[in-house]
Amino acid sequence: MTDERILDVAVIGGGPAGLMAAETVAKAGKSVAVFEKMPTFGRKFLMAGRGGLNLTHSEDFERFAGRYAERSDALRPMLEAFTPNDLVAWAQGLGQETFVGASGRVFPKTMKASPLLRAWLSRLEGLGVALEPRSTWKGWDAAGRLLIEGADGRQAVRARATVLALGGASWPKLGSDAAWAPLLRVGGCEIAPFRPANCGFDIGWSAFFSERFAGEPLKNVALGLGQARSRGDAMVARYGLEGGAVYALGGAARDAALAGGATLTVDLRPDIPVETLERRLHAPRGGQTLANFLRKAVKLSPVEINLLREAHGVDLPPAPAALAEAIKAAPLGVTGVQPLDRAVSAAGGVRFESLDGLFLKGRQNVLLAGEMLDWEAPTGGYLLQACFATGVAAGQAALGRLS
Ligand SMILES: Cc1cc2nc3c(=O)[nH]c(=O)nc-3n(C[C@H](O)[C@H](O)[C@H](O)COP(=O)(O)OP(=O)(O)OC[C@H]3O[C@@H](n4cnc5c(N)ncnc54)[C@H](O)[C@@H]3O)c2cc1C
Repeated sequence: MTDERILDVAVIGGGPAGLMAAETVAKAGKSVAVFEKMPTFGRKFLMAGRGGLNLTHSEDFERFAGRYAERSDALRPMLEAFTPNDLVAWAQGLGQETFVGASGRVFPKTMKASPLLRAWLSRLEGLGVALEPRSTWKGWDAAGRLLIEGADGRQAVRARATVLALGGASWPKLGSDAAWAPLLRVGGCEIAPFRPANCGFDIGWSAFFSERFAGEPLKNVALGLGQARSRGDAMVARYGLEGGAVYALGGAARDAALAGGATLTVDLRPDIPVETLERRLHAPRGGQTLANFLRKAVKLSPVEINLLREAHGVDLPPAPAALAEAIKAAPLGVTGVQPLDRAVSAAGGVRFESLDGLFLKGRQNVLLAGEMLDWEAPTGGYLLQACFATGVAAGQAALGRLS
């Protein structure tokens, strides 16, 4: 064990939430170090940029805040203090111009996370933040000091305030593997079990369908599962269905899917009333195959026609009324969901009941931020916005404690 090190604030976890907490503290001139167990910072943030970094959303604030469902009330003050507009201004301050996509989602013009992260880390260094990769937090010693294990052995850090921003439990190979959970449970902290969120649903496709159509989009469909409804695009995967419209069904639908035996209903033409579809299907079919007729009369694509066969059986109902109904409601049996290591995010984490503000009850001067807290939201920029906003709030609360 090396000598004791003293800091104003220690941040554990170098993802968006932790780095934002560190920036907030450093701007106030306090000493702060970020301990990150991986060899580099922001690995999941970089992964988020692979498919287009959706930073936040431009919709009306009330609607925005509602996306966090039962956690909206807990997160609202932090989202009000660091709004989507603040996030856009912050990204611009790092040289990353943003744009609003067709669906209202906000992206950096580069679409990537790497230029933003590079500029951010260099700003943090300029502010004097000690960025310490390969440094794993292992808990506290009897004197309440943080135990940090690095390549050169263990160090004990005495911090006047600590921000834990350790991430959720999805994509564990990027660093956030929830190995911290036992360390907090010892202190009596309640942790809601981690479940996959924003994950694909397993559907028992036929071998033909999964081989032929995996990777094909289903554009502008309406989905229903139990009481949950969503609109948007989905994607056929070998195992089932994934994509924004599936994720937007939310936590209750995910829980039902997780239990297995749920039915996902797909409306392939949500903008066309069933009567209109029926009228179009009354057109003379002549000698056309049913597939050709559906392609011409209703503009169904091969993947859509075959999805109808997966749902209703190979012999689709011949009568126009029944066929129109089949297009409006194709039932697919859901057998489960994709595991945590393939989910965009994780539901579960430290319950807000174990917190006082963002302070951990029963542990002096320890704050929590980011996805390790028990909230969930659909994709659309809501995940990063809440991580940044809780990071700012944790940094400010740490500063408040120092003064
Ligand atoms: C494929 C994919 C795409 C995504 N796309 C988007 C998107 O477009 N928009 C969006 O809003 N969100 C997106 N997300 C989600 C978003 O990336 C996460 O919500 C966000 O990164 C969580 O931030 P965080 O700081 O809370 O945790 P993390 O980013 O997970 O960071 C936590 C850090 O803590 C470190 N750590 C853990 N334990 C320890 C320890 N004991 N000691 C030291 N360090 C430790 C980890 O190594 C990790 O670096 C995506 C996620 C994935 C997987």
